[in-house]
Amino acid sequence: TKWVYTFGDGAAEGRADDKALLGGKGANLAEMCALGLPVPPGFTITTDACNHFYANGRQYPVELDEQVRRALDHVGTLTGRTFGDKSNALLLSVRSGARASMPGMMDTVLNLGLNDETVETLAAESGDERFAWDSYRRFITMYSDVVMGLDHEVFEEILDMEKGRLGAELDTEISADQWKHIVELYKARVMEELEQPFPQDPGEQLWGAIGAVFSSWMNHRAITYRRLHDIPEAWGTAVNVQAMVFGNMGETSATGVAFSRNPSTGENSLYGEFLVNAQGEDVVAGIRTPQAITEAGRIAGGSDKPSLEKLMPDLFAEFSSFASRLEAHYRDMQDMEFTIERGKLWMLQTRNGKRTAKAAMKIAVDMAGEGLVTKEEAVQRIEPASLDQLLHPTIDPKAKRDVIAMGLPASPGAATGEIVFTSEEAEEMSSAGRRVILVRIETSPEDIHGMHAAQGILTSRGGMTSHAAVVARGMGKPCVSGAGSIRIDYRNEVLLAMGQTFRKGDIVTIDGSSGQVLKGAVPMLQPELSGDFAAIMEWADAGRRMKVRTNAETPADARMARSFGAEGIGLCRTEHMFFEGDRIVAMREMILADTEAGRRAALAKLLPMQKADFVELFEIMAGLPVTIRLLDPPLHEFLPKTEEEIAEVARSLNVNPDLLRRRTEALHEFNPMLGHRGCRLAISYPEIAEMQARAIFEAAIEAGKATGAQVVPEVMVPLVGLMKELEFVKARIDAVAGEVMKESGTRFDYLVGTMIELPRAAIRAHVIAEVAEFFSFGTNDLTQTTFGISRDDSAGFLETYQHKGIIEQDPFVSLDVEGVGELVRIAAEKGRGTREGIKLGICGEHGGDPASIRFCEETGLDYVSCSPFRVPIARLAAAQAAI
Ligand code: ADP
Ligand code: MG
Ligand code: MG
Repeated sequence: TKWVYTFGDGAAEGRADDKALLGGKGANLAEMCALGLPVPPGFTITTDACNHFYANGRQYPVELDEQVRRALDHVGTLTGRTFGDKSNALLLSVRSGARASMPGMMDTVLNLGLNDETVETLAAESGDERFAWDSYRRFITMYSDVVMGLDHEVFEEILDMEKGRLGAELDTEISADQWKHIVELYKARVMEELEQPFPQDPGEQLWGAIGAVFSSWMNHRAITYRRLHDIPEAWGTAVNVQAMVFGNMGETSATGVAFSRNPSTGENSLYGEFLVNAQGEDVVAGIRTPQAITEAGRIAGGSDKPSLEKLMPDLFAEFSSFASRLEAHYRDMQDMEFTIERGKLWMLQTRNGKRTAKAAMKIAVDMAGEGLVTKEEAVQRIEPASLDQLLHPTIDPKAKRDVIAMGLPASPGAATGEIVFTSEEAEEMSSAGRRVILVRIETSPEDIHGMHAAQGILTSRGGMTSHAAVVARGMGKPCVSGAGSIRIDYRNEVLLAMGQTFRKGDIVTIDGSSGQVLKGAVPMLQPELSGDFAAIMEWADAGRRMKVRTNAETPADARMARSFGAEGIGLCRTEHMFFEGDRIVAMREMILADTEAGRRAALAKLLPMQKADFVELFEIMAGLPVTIRLLDPPLHEFLPKTEEEIAEVARSLNVNPDLLRRRTEALHEFNPMLGHRGCRLAISYPEIAEMQARAIFEAAIEAGKATGAQVVPEVMVPLVGLMKELEFVKARIDAVAGEVMKESGTRFDYLVGTMIELPRAAIRAHVIAEVAEFFSFGTNDLTQTTFGISRDDSAGFLETYQHKGIIEQDPFVSLDVEGVGELVRIAAEKGRGTREGIKLGICGEHGGDPASIRFCEETGLDYVSCSPFRVPIARLAAAQAAI
């Protein structure tokens, strides 16, 4: 087996495509070599060797020793040096490199091969004693830390003491003799701490470093990183061994990092930093302040230290041309590392650079314009989830952050406002034109109006799927949930955080993208939806098959969703409409009535309000499809809970509190999620469904007249498990439709369908489709009912499940394709079997999750529906799934 691949001097055994075998770094080093760029020669030990190492009780493959020896000879030939030789030593860097870039892996060891003898020859050969001893002390530090497990702080301590003694501030002020002395101290310290001398044999050093790279694949940091980023253990890591080039050989030497375009703005200009007379990580270590690569960068950064462009114009020109070549070759923005050794430029790494969402957008659009990528490729280049960053105000990255608490990043975006502790206050203050942050221990459906009024929501309790989190995401409001370290005292109207007291009216900022809670107002960046964003969206729309609708019940949400490109409403939850204003009063009257006649009387009051809601939604959607779900939650959700609330409601309804209490108790359920809700309500009280159907149909006629666009309402019956349930409810809806047609003298089209949110419904979909004219997969409930996990109580233990590796992802966030997805597949297939072309959609939270959207595309659904702020994400994800 071939375990070792060499590169150097314009040739390489590997290619960029060999990332699986050579790791990202190794494959790109090979590619740069093959392109003829100056890369110090070296070789890569494959990831297969790493896997062999672990499969065989940490033994190297037998051929490896020989192959490494030959590769070292090859590098020696190209450099005119010999590894292990005293008079003409080949010095090496040893670098780890997995397929995906992994910060959890081993740090690079530089200057390997130095010892008490070779340091002298390096000094003589370079004519620079100081440089040689500086390199040796770096090597001892890195090697001891990375390979021998002796923390580098031990050496920094010594260095600081010496600097203090010598009155030196910077490393560059230390002389050759002083380094020589420091090296002695370092070696003595190794002996003292590890009871063994620092290894002098270069061969031992090399194999020590190779072993350390392989071992680092299984270190704690790497394992954690892999788990968090879904990187399989089976990938293994490669080891890159490469001839050293020195950026620390005096004033004509330097080392730096650069991006071919600006990674935060996307601007098409080289962007980076470098340091003269430095090595390796000095640039990022922050010991000295690095200098800008370009003049423009220097000016922007307000620095008076010369740029590379000014200081070494020829080398700058050469590096710029390499950057352009690499970018054109990889057809993507590159993140590069380089070193200049006495006026000669060497390339040490290149890879596709990480970037902000804004930069990603600009770079993709620009590159399509430059003809570097196609429009389809540009669309594929954008991470859909990253759009969240672009749709909301975000905290200016340059802003100072005074963090007073951390919670969960429950709903993205940042918001600033005055603290209020009740929804009533939130509403009052916001209608007086003030900006508020609603601070609650947790929220409930009664807080909806307060959440609407607030700029953002902060809770001290509750997970990513808590009421506050789900509703805030739905509204596109920033939310930080479960900030457990804060104390909320409703009675005294204070918030305690980090020992500070915040009162009602004090200003705080929440960052729903990071979970931070900050003191005071913080500068923000506003979203920018035109330009590059609009271009990408247009290209995405051209490429997708599925429609994207929105989940919306308020005119504001519907309009917002339209502006984000929604093509209809996939889920209008009518119950939200009954919490507002006087409606809750009429609703409660209806619930308290003992007779059908009493209920009908109360419903008659609700009818015009409900109808007005629908007229507005239909008008906003102007002929686009609108799916309206009949009342879904159990009735007790509309009744008061505490004694105080009961007393107050009894007074306002003018009924006996005992009656109210009795009714509340009678409606109490042990398990409301599986209780008297969904179509079960419509079967017990058909008059509710009838009122809603009438409101829908009358509104459709009215809106049709007003807009001139014909409305085809889709009436959706929730929580159906039995065909007969749907049949019963549909008969009532059809009857109302007939009445409305007769009364109005107009004919109209409408559809009656159901949500598929119970396993039984999925399994019996072929029978249900005899009645249902469309299916909408309610995957929140379907996940809940399939797993038998309550979504309101699961946050805590699902997190434990993730930690213990039982599940990879929260199934309420990303659809469980194997289980819940199988039910969706079955239902889709069976539904189509009965009713060819039956309209299929999804309206759970998953409708805005890119991975779940891919599944929907593969299953051939007609549309996904998601909260307004997720619409652009869904448009992009649907396009990526289809292209
Ligand atoms: P990382 O993956 O953390 O970026 P690298 O393996 O790229 O680690 O190494 C870090 C730094 O070490 C490089 O940016 C470069 O400055 C330095 N380095 C690596 N190999 C060499 C080499 N052959 N000669 C000189 N410096 C090197
Ligand atoms: Mg690197
Ligand atoms: Mg449901």
